[in-house]
Amino acid sequence: MQRHVEIAEFTELTPGAPITVARHGWRAKCLQRLIRLNLPVPRTLALPVETVRAIAAGAMPDVGRLAAAFGPDLLVSVRPSPEHPEWGGPRSVLNVGINAARHAALCDSHGTEAADALYLRFVQSYATHVARLDPDMFTAEPGPGALDAALAAYHAETDDEFPQDPARQLAEVLRSMARAWEGTTARLLRQAKGAPAEAPLGLLVQQMALGIGRGFSGSGTIQFVDGVTGAAQITGRFRGQVQGRSASEETFYLTRDPRGASLEEVAPRIFADLVAHGAACRVRLREEMQLEFTVESGQLAIIDALRVPRSSRAAVKIAVALANDGVIGREDAILRVEPRALSELLHYQVDPRAPRDRIARGIAASPGAATGRIVFTAAAAQASAARDEACILVRRETAPEDIRGMHAAHAVLTERGGVTSHAAVIARGLGLPCIVGASEIQLNPRDRTLSVPDGRVFREGDTITVDGTNGEVLAGVADMLEPALDDGFRTLLRWADNVRDIGIRANADTPDDARTARMFEAEGIGLCRTEHMFFDEDRLTVMREMIFADTSRDRRIALERLLPMQRADFTALFDIMAGQPVCIRLFDPPLHEFLPHDREGMRELAEALDRPLSEVTRRVEALTEFNPMLGMRGVRLGITVPEIYDMQARAIFEATVEASRHGAPVVPEIMIPLVSAAREVELVKTRIDAVAAAVKNEMKARFTYRLGVMVETPRAALRAGEIAEHAAFLSFGTNDLTQMTYGLSRDDAGRFMGSYVTQQVYREDPFHILDVEGVGELLLIGAARGRAHRSDVTLSVCGEHGGNPESIAFCRAAGFDYVSCSPFRVPVARLAAAHFAL
Ligand code: PEP
Ligand code: MG
Repeated sequence: MQRHVEIAEFTELTPGAPITVARHGWRAKCLQRLIRLNLPVPRTLALPVETVRAIAAGAMPDVGRLAAAFGPDLLVSVRPSPEHPEWGGPRSVLNVGINAARHAALCDSHGTEAADALYLRFVQSYATHVARLDPDMFTAEPGPGALDAALAAYHAETDDEFPQDPARQLAEVLRSMARAWEGTTARLLRQAKGAPAEAPLGLLVQQMALGIGRGFSGSGTIQFVDGVTGAAQITGRFRGQVQGRSASEETFYLTRDPRGASLEEVAPRIFADLVAHGAACRVRLREEMQLEFTVESGQLAIIDALRVPRSSRAAVKIAVALANDGVIGREDAILRVEPRALSELLHYQVDPRAPRDRIARGIAASPGAATGRIVFTAAAAQASAARDEACILVRRETAPEDIRGMHAAHAVLTERGGVTSHAAVIARGLGLPCIVGASEIQLNPRDRTLSVPDGRVFREGDTITVDGTNGEVLAGVADMLEPALDDGFRTLLRWADNVRDIGIRANADTPDDARTARMFEAEGIGLCRTEHMFFDEDRLTVMREMIFADTSRDRRIALERLLPMQRADFTALFDIMAGQPVCIRLFDPPLHEFLPHDREGMRELAEALDRPLSEVTRRVEALTEFNPMLGMRGVRLGITVPEIYDMQARAIFEATVEASRHGAPVVPEIMIPLVSAAREVELVKTRIDAVAAAVKNEMKARFTYRLGVMVETPRAALRAGEIAEHAAFLSFGTNDLTQMTYGLSRDDAGRFMGSYVTQQVYREDPFHILDVEGVGELLLIGAARGRAHRSDVTLSVCGEHGGNPESIAFCRAAGFDYVSCSPFRVPVARLAAAHFAL
């Protein structure tokens, strides 16, 4: 005997009914709001979540009272109502209650074609969703014989007539929808959208509003903003005389259009009602809604409404417009835009409406999209740029000598590497779309080809598109949306600035970066990596001479040639930043990064330096380290080859005097990298103080400066107390700190990071999302010890994590003064910081 559960409780959606999202789901609440606004919503009854759960548990619902509530001519739809619109749910089932007798009556009232289409549609969805028959057998379009064929197929497959009792139909539909929600696939799907596996479902039973009738009829959707751009614009569709698809359908434009008939012209009163309903929803529901409606012989019904699905750029525009119109507050507008979504607005994006021919995937390392011809070397990229031809630089991985090529390319694609690999960091800094770790592509630099998993081979010069936002490589050209740094974007960020309580600076190495930082309204430069300044052709040679110098004196001579170049670099940065703080990190990388690695390069160097090739080779070998990232770099180089830091300090101070003379006063910040002991700071500080005194004396100028330490070794975090005694600020370099805390190479971790994350060894890639438990604890220890010794020490993070909302939340909670991130991540950081402050 089948157990029955009586549907004792259901609530009619009326203005005063006790409907809640928790008990009846969002759709029930939304429809009730429409009813309160006096919109013509057909009669709707809501089943609460506990009833739906009981039905799913196996009981056959006894729908007697529920069916009776709709009278003898039951004809309803059943719609899912989960707690959140994005959690999906089983498909709505329409025309429940139709049977042979009802069909006959509809033939009289609406015509045979319409009645057949309605019945066919129900048979099809009942057969596939309730009786679970093979969907392929129930796909016929409405037309002569289609209904009879569907009924015959149902009979053949089930040995039963198609159920004729409307109450039984309703009971079966309710049960199948309740059960579908509990199925494994549905659970996984909603979990992927952030819903708990046990999320409840409400169901709605709604009087059918037919889009078919003898008078003007049809069904459609309408919205009042464009979902892609956010511009105020009526979009949607309306098909006349149809419910689903029918042979007699006719598509209308919504608004007047020279290409054909429009709803606005054909049914001006209905159109005007829809516009008025949209305006009412906007003001009273405080949201841009998409209305789903039917028209039956001139009678309008609003059967459902949905928050307009929107792109990120539309989300910004809509939120700002609602706030500007006084519909919502500014704080609400800030909270309505997902911070990470902003990065989509800063770059070209592949148009979501355009077709995509995907050929490979990798790690989305830097957002935005670009199309160009494939090149395999930095030199080829530069040659392309010289021809004004867009190119995509494809490399196994990139190295410092590829920087020029990266500047010249429109996007970068690498086979190896993770989110903090060289290619990823540089590309983010340049705002260049970038995919790294695309291990499914095969590079054959010798034949200048690139093979992809489906067997296609691309050659140098072939066109591809890199979508760095989602990590997809596409064949050929893709339709693009332009960046949207418009008024809406700027306005929203200004509002965010008014509420956030942590500073946001940018990591900027070049004048271009600094200008980008200003454009995105960063509050200064938090990290200027000076080594990038030495890769220009003219400087590289002098740099190499300096490295090859035999004596301190020769080294100084080479450095004296670099001094004016560095001074000009810093003056330019100070000028652009116009008095905002600029934190300059002294030279950090191992020297061998500036030397050639192949024979040809060494031969050229021998020629340039006028030394024997054997000597050049020997010197290059002598500088090679087994583990250069833990070797002679950062402050270690500063202490063993102090002339480099002396030159940089002098360049900074001379630029300070120069920039302050013609512009806003500058208080430079000088940062020492890779410190692990307080004594390192003491030694460097003594020399820098001496250089400052000398410059003041020579230039007859007064200035102050701030000396700080980059905390990027675990020991520096642990000894932050004594280090802070010599440092005005501590800036946590979380890239190296993560590398050293985990003992995990930031350049090689990409190879196994995927399987580590899949197997939940790490919850996330720690180079991407700050590991708050381990690395985070070092940050907290360092901050507390630093502050204990120097209460006014400035604390910040300048690693790549600085731009991540989660890391910003962490730094803010820990009382840090600012975070610093790539210029293109500044907008996301500003908005995220505001979210945390609200
Ligand atoms: C860091 O280590 O976090 C950092 C910012 O420096 P870099 O990435 O240049 O090593
Ligand atoms: Mg570092």
